[in-house]
Amino acid sequence: MTDLPAPLFDTLVIIGPGLIGSSILRRGMEDRRIARRLVACDISPEVRARVAELGIADQIESDPATAARDADCVIICVPVGAIAMVAAQVMPVMKKGAILSEVGSVKTTVMEAMTPLLAQHPDIAFIPAHPMAGTEFSGPDAGFATLFEDRWCLLTPPGHTPADAIRRVTNLWEMMGARVRSMTVDHHDRVCAIVSHLPHLLAFTICGTADDLADETRSEVLDFAASGFRDFTRIAASDPTMWRDIFLNNREALLDMLDRFIADAQAMGNAIRTGDEDVIVSRIKRGRAIRRSLIENRQA
Ligand code: NAP
Repeated sequence: MTDLPAPLFDTLVIIGPGLIGSSILRRGMEDRRIARRLVACDISPEVRARVAELGIADQIESDPATAARDADCVIICVPVGAIAMVAAQVMPVMKKGAILSEVGSVKTTVMEAMTPLLAQHPDIAFIPAHPMAGTEFSGPDAGFATLFEDRWCLLTPPGHTPADAIRRVTNLWEMMGARVRSMTVDHHDRVCAIVSHLPHLLAFTICGTADDLADETRSEVLDFAASGFRDFTRIAASDPTMWRDIFLNNREALLDMLDRFIADAQAMGNAIRTGDEDVIVSRIKRGRAIRRSLIENRQA
C-alpha cells in the first residue's frame, strides 16, 4: 500500500464560517489533501449549531484563541471592521511559524491596524488574501465548495513574508480552484474600488432612487422592474454590515472612483442631450467588448 502525501496543513482554522468561510470548509471537506483537521470558530451559537448540522468542520469552537492554539493556518473570515480585533485574540497563542490569513475585501486599513500586532509577533506569517468571488447571500448556508472555481484570489503579503508561507497560501487557493495573483495593498484597494465597491454603491443608490420615485408618483415603478434593474437589485441585496465596513474602510479609493464615474456619466448625459451618436455608440460598443472579454476569461 502506498502512503498518501501529507495534507497541505495539519490543522486549518476558519474564524467566521459565513459565505466565504463555509465555502473554504466545504472545499476542505471534499478535498482532504487541503487539511487533516478543519476547525470552525464563530461567536454566534446559531452559526456554530448550523455548522454542526451541515457537517462542514471536524471541530467547532466558540473562542478564537482556543481554536487557533494548534493551528498551522488560521483564516479570519469576518467583516473587515472586526479582522484586526480577531487577529489580536489569536496571535498571542499561535504556534511559531504558523500562518495567519484573512479574506477581507479591503486591505490598506486592515494592514494599518495589523502593523503593531505584526511587530509583536514576528514569528507569524501574515498573508492577506481576497478571493474575488461571492454572492449576495451570507451565513453558513450560503457557501458552496465551487465558489472559488476559476475566480481570482488576490494576495497582499507584506514585503518580509517568508516565501514558503506565500507558496503554501498560494497552493491553498489553487486547491480551492482559484487563480492567484500578488499585489500591493494600495493597488488592491484601487482595483476593488472600481470592479466591486463602486458597482455596489451604484446598486444600493439606484434601488433607493427608484423607490423614492415610486413613493413620489404613487405609482408602480418597481412592479415593472426590467432586467437591467433586476440585476442591480440582486447586488443591492448584499449584507449591510459587510458593505458598511467596506465603504468606510476603502473611503479614499472609492470616492476617487466615484468622482471619475460621475464625470464619465455626465459626459454620456451630454452626448445624449446633444444627440452625439458617435459618443453614445462608442461607449456602448466598449461595454459590449468588455463583457465579451470577461466571458472569454471565464469571469462572467
Ligand atoms: P458572512 O457570510 O456574514 O460571514 C461572516 C461570519 O463572521 C458570520 O458567521 C459572523 O457571525 C462571523 N463573525 C462576525 N464577527 C465575528 C467575530 N468578531 N468573531 C467571530 N466571528 C464573527 O460574510 P462573508 O460574505 O463570508 O464575508 C466575510 C469576509 O469576506 C468579509 O471581510 C468580506 O469583506 C470578505 N469577502 C466577502 C465576499 C462576498 O462577496 N461576500 C467576497 C470576498 C471577500 P454573525 O452572523 O453571528 O455576525
